[in-house]
Amino acid sequence: MDERVFIKDGIRLDGRRFDELRPIKMEVGVLKRADGSCYMEMGDNKVIAAVYGPREVHPRHLQEVNRAIIRYRYNMASFSVEERRRPGPDRRSYELSKVSREALEPVILTSYFPKSVIDIFVEVLQADAGTRTAGINAASVALADAGIPMRSLVSSCAAGKVDGQIVLDPMKDEDNFGQADMPIAITPTGEITLLQMDGILTRDEFRQAMELAKKGCQEIYKIQRRVLIERYSQFEDLQDEGS
Ligand code: UDP
Repeated sequence: MDERVFIKDGIRLDGRRFDELRPIKMEVGVLKRADGSCYMEMGDNKVIAAVYGPREVHPRHLQEVNRAIIRYRYNMASFSVEERRRPGPDRRSYELSKVSREALEPVILTSYFPKSVIDIFVEVLQADAGTRTAGINAASVALADAGIPMRSLVSSCAAGKVDGQIVLDPMKDEDNFGQADMPIAITPTGEITLLQMDGILTRDEFRQAMELAKKGCQEIYKIQRRVLIERYSQFEDLQDEGS
């Protein structure tokens, strides 16, 4: 039985309360050769998302006549975790690539680009639990940066259970030793595009976790929106100066 205590007097090991996200940093347009890109930090997670396309599909047999296909590759750098990870795809990265693609696909207007592909690459540079959610947040902003038409952005974070308490955005120790971890992704209008759960929650705890994760996503959405507006208002300023 693990004797570690994760919440003392309502304060978690890293100083947060139960309903607080880790500090977030986002930067748009960080890669010159990508059509869209975004760097994101969520606490000690550091991820970068690059979007290419819409562009011609290779191999050709993957083409869809009436829409673009979306490919999403989640990859963890071997140096991103405590114990060196063997490079290359594994079961976990295939799963995370699939669920992350499915989290974004519903908002992308794929019918505008028949026979083409939109490629999304997410590279995890440093991991501290919640990398799939950080990847989805960064990828969503990178898609917007690439000018891909979308119904909305998608925001993502997890809620978990530690020391019997439902908490927002668990970090690595809370994820490892906690009783549950529930990542979600959601649009600003409340459509859930990702819902996963490790561990066990009662119905009541599930409701609490969902409320908390939704609240976290709303905060993330505000940041995503702000960094995009900041990035593109810069160009407007330059245009004004030029005219
Ligand atoms: N992790 C690790 N080695 C691995 C995979 C994961 O150390 O090969 C760590 C990493 O910090 C990751 C955390 O375990 O963020 C939780 O992984 P999980 O599969 O739950 O995905 P995530 O929470 O990152 O979306």
